[in-house]
Amino acid sequence: MKNYDIVVVGAGPGGSIAAKTAVDKGYSVILLEKKDLRNGGRYKACGGAMAWELIEKIKFPEDKIDRIIEKLILHHIDGDIYTKQGKGAIIWRDKFDKFLTDIASTSGVEIKQNEELIDIKKTDSEYLINTSKSKYSAQYVIAADGVNSPTLRKLRWEKFNKEDLILTITQEMGLNKKEIDERLGNDEVHLFFGIKNLIPLGYAWLFPKKDKITVGWGNQIGKIKNSRKEFSKFLNIPLVKQSIKNAELIRYTPHLIPVGVRPMLYNDDVFAVGDAGGIVDPISGKGIPYAMMSAEIAIQTIKYCEKKGKEEKMGEIYKKKLDRSFLSILKKKSELRKRIFQNDEKLKLFLNLWQNHRSSEIILKDLL
Ligand SMILES: Cc1cc2nc3c(=O)[nH]c(=O)nc-3n(C[C@H](O)[C@H](O)[C@H](O)COP(=O)(O)OP(=O)(O)OC[C@H]3O[C@@H](n4cnc5c(N)ncnc54)[C@H](O)[C@@H]3O)c2cc1C
Repeated sequence: MKNYDIVVVGAGPGGSIAAKTAVDKGYSVILLEKKDLRNGGRYKACGGAMAWELIEKIKFPEDKIDRIIEKLILHHIDGDIYTKQGKGAIIWRDKFDKFLTDIASTSGVEIKQNEELIDIKKTDSEYLINTSKSKYSAQYVIAADGVNSPTLRKLRWEKFNKEDLILTITQEMGLNKKEIDERLGNDEVHLFFGIKNLIPLGYAWLFPKKDKITVGWGNQIGKIKNSRKEFSKFLNIPLVKQSIKNAELIRYTPHLIPVGVRPMLYNDDVFAVGDAGGIVDPISGKGIPYAMMSAEIAIQTIKYCEKKGKEEKMGEIYKKKLDRSFLSILKKKSELRKRIFQNDEKLKLFLNLWQNHRSSEIILKDLL
C-alpha cells in the first residue's frame, strides 16, 4: 500500500487545484479520478460560463474558448427583457478541466485516472482508501468528488437537504456557427425566468458555443413532479424553439447543483471542497471559481495549522478563511434567493436590479 500526505478525490476544478497547491507546498499527493481523462478530457454537464477575470487569472488560452461573451440577456416569460453587460467566456468543461489537470500533472501531482474511490475508512492515525484498482493510505483527505461525494457518503457525513439541491437537465444541440449567430447573436447568452409559468425556483438558459448550443434548465428538487415535462415547456418558448430548430440532439444529461453549504465542511482531517461542500452561488449556480478557491484554502489551512501547531483548530480555521474570502456572501445569497423566488413581482424587481448590480451588491446595499 502506498502512503501519501494527502489524497484528493475527484479531478474537477476543485481537485486539480487542491492537488497542485498541495504539491507546491511540499506534500506528497495522489489525485484520484474515476473517469477517463485521455482524448481531451471527460464530459461534464455545465453551462461553461466564466467571468473574464478568472480566464485571465489562470491564463486559460483564448484558442480553447468557444465564445467570448459581452452580455447576458435575461428573459422573463411574461415578455420583459433585461440586459446585463459584462465580459465572460463560454468554455467546454472537458477542455477547461483538462487544462487544470495538466497544470497539476506538470507541477508533479500523481494522477490516477479511471480509478474510482470505492471505500474509505479511518484507522487510529490515517485513512485507508480502496479504489477500483489499488489501495492507498493518507493523513488528509480532500473530498472534491462533486455533489454526490462518494467519499463523504462513505464517511457518513450528512446528506444535502432537498431544498438545497437543484435538478438540472442539459441538452447539447449541434448547429453550425452561422445559424447560431443569426439566431442568438454572437456574443450573448440567454437566461429565462418565470415562477408561475416556467420554473418555480430556478431558471433556464441557452448558452451558444462554437457549433453547439447548450440548452439547460434547473429547478429546486421537489418543486415539480415531472421534470421532463417541465423542461419541454421551456423548449416550446418561441425563441427557444426557433433557436434549436433543425439542430441535432447530441446529449441529454440530468445533473444536480448543490446550492446550500453543508453545515460541516471539515471533520477529522477530511475537507469538503467545491460541489462536495455545496460551495456554489445559490442564485446563479456558478460553482467553478468557488471549487477552485475552496480547494486552495483547504490546503493553505493544513499548512498554516501544521506550522502554527493548531491542528486541533483546523475545522474552525478552514471555515474562517472561507468566510473571509467569499463564503459569508454565498450564505447571504441563499437568503436573497428565497426572497427573489417568492413571486414574479420580486423576481422582476431583482432582474431589473441585476442589470446594473452584482447580486452581492444587492445584498450588501439591501437594494431588494
Ligand atoms: C447543468 C449545470 C450547469 C452549470 N453551469 C455552470 C456555469 O456556467 N459556470 C459555473 O461556474 N458553474 C456551473 N455549474 C457548476 C459547476 O459545474 C460545479 O460547481 C463545478 O463543476 C464544481 O467543481 P468540483 O471540482 O467541486 O466538482 P466536479 O466538477 O463535479 O468534479 C468532481 C469530479 O469527481 C469525480 N468523482 C466522482 N466520484 C468519484 C469517485 N468515487 N472516485 C474518483 N473520482 C470521482 C468526477 O468524475 C468528477 O470529475 C453548473 C453545473 C451544472 C450541473
